[in-house]
Amino acid sequence: MKGDDFLLQNEFSIPYKKRKERVVIIGSGPAGMFSALFLQKAGFNVTVLERGAEVDSRGERIAKFEQTGIFDKNANYAFGEGGAGTFSDGKLTSRSKHISKERAFIMDAYIRAGAPKEIKYLAHPHLGSDNLKIIVKNLRNEFLRDGGRIDFECMVEDLTHKNGLVQSVKTENQQYELDYLIVASGHSSYETYRMLMRHGVEFRIKNYALGSRVEHRQEIINEAQWGVSSLAGVKAAEYRLTSNIDGLLPVYTFCMCPGGVIVPATAYRDTNIVNGMSNYARNGDFANSAMVAAVNLEKLLGRDVSAEQALKWTEDLERSFYSDGYSVPACTIKEYLEITSSPSVSGTSYPLKLNPAPLWEMLPVSITESLREGLKIFSRKLRGFDDGMIMGLESKTSAPIQVIRGPGGLCEGFSNLYVSGEGSGYAGGIISSATDGIKAVLEIIEKFD
Ligand SMILES: Cc1cc2nc3c(=O)[nH]c(=O)nc-3n(C[C@H](O)[C@H](O)[C@H](O)COP(=O)(O)OP(=O)(O)OC[C@H]3O[C@@H](n4cnc5c(N)ncnc54)[C@H](O)[C@@H]3O)c2cc1C
Repeated sequence: MKGDDFLLQNEFSIPYKKRKERVVIIGSGPAGMFSALFLQKAGFNVTVLERGAEVDSRGERIAKFEQTGIFDKNANYAFGEGGAGTFSDGKLTSRSKHISKERAFIMDAYIRAGAPKEIKYLAHPHLGSDNLKIIVKNLRNEFLRDGGRIDFECMVEDLTHKNGLVQSVKTENQQYELDYLIVASGHSSYETYRMLMRHGVEFRIKNYALGSRVEHRQEIINEAQWGVSSLAGVKAAEYRLTSNIDGLLPVYTFCMCPGGVIVPATAYRDTNIVNGMSNYARNGDFANSAMVAAVNLEKLLGRDVSAEQALKWTEDLERSFYSDGYSVPACTIKEYLEITSSPSVSGTSYPLKLNPAPLWEMLPVSITESLREGLKIFSRKLRGFDDGMIMGLESKTSAPIQVIRGPGGLCEGFSNLYVSGEGSGYAGGIISSATDGIKAVLEIIEKFD
């Protein structure tokens, strides 16, 4: 779809105009892919570099990881085509305001790529991981049909710049010259953050959240919410819970996956974290959700913390949750509340092993105490909540650091470099990350129209 078609269909009324400028985008997650799609339609020469594998190979290799516990650095829940959101519940909700045009562009592209049309009008739309695998491939094919280029298993390791102008990026085997660079590498790519910092891109720390994941049999949640274990014609019941107690950290549930599974979502061989995903039907036996406390790292540690130190501290925590075969420490919620001496585990959707462990000893005390009080409140709000399990580390609700932006959203001190999406620290989730990418694109297009 080029030229007049684009003018007719896009909410921004930007006509197609063939342009000579080359844009390189690092990452094919929601921020990278929607930026790429938009820029290519506006006539730029766009190349996407993706460190992970294309989606079909990625899916097969993740399945192998879950059978064998042997980690694949190019194909996991963080890295690969479609980014972190490919294997997810695909919730398309966002609390961002004033994004109706960006949202319309994203929803239309998703629908062209095979998403159900209901995502345009439902209050809580979601795609499901089974649909996402197809949608991600169709988005890529649309981008390729429009003339774009995407290279997989192609990690950007370095860049060159002069007088605030990025000139090229380098992968192991190749150098790509460019006029604009959009870094949409997500918040798991620690080497990329460090590479940017080495070149003078400035970051500061920001508040984020840490905790674990809770899991229940879905009937418990259905009964608590509906009074019955199933309802004809309705998928699975959801919940969203918060607690705010004086003297403790605010606690909330996040990224709840009804009828979903808990997955080993690490991006690196020697670390482990958990996350959740569901298929479109949300018909699995379990419901899971992040259960996290809002954290300011400087308050938590009682000292000044630089962006580099925030990354290192988070990475070390993720490493402390690793054990052989990506087994995950876990106990029942009742044991977490009672601080029992003999933790235990029961049925779960987590595909690898669960290790019975005193989970409350694995996070800083102020987080554990806040989570414990939160669990008590949630158990009063939702009958049966304390009949669940709690497991692993949730450290990826949003980035621990934020890039410092100058005029027009550019990285401070650079005239053609944007850090977009979740890795920028200004977005979290599929829609807000994609929107953040589109905002950078609009800044680029504005320079030429
Ligand atoms: C299991 C799971 C479930 C989730 N569920 C939901 C949900 O239901 N709803 C929701 O809104 N959000 C969900 N999220 C969060 C959501 O996926 C992210 O907020 C979103 O994907 C961020 O988009 P992004 O494009 O900024 O970054 P990412 O999606 O992280 O994409 C970054 C991409 O950059 C690539 N990359 C990184 N470094 C380099 C490099 N140096 N060179 C080349 N490529 C590089 C990575 O491989 C990756 O593909 C979930 C996340 C996970 C892990």
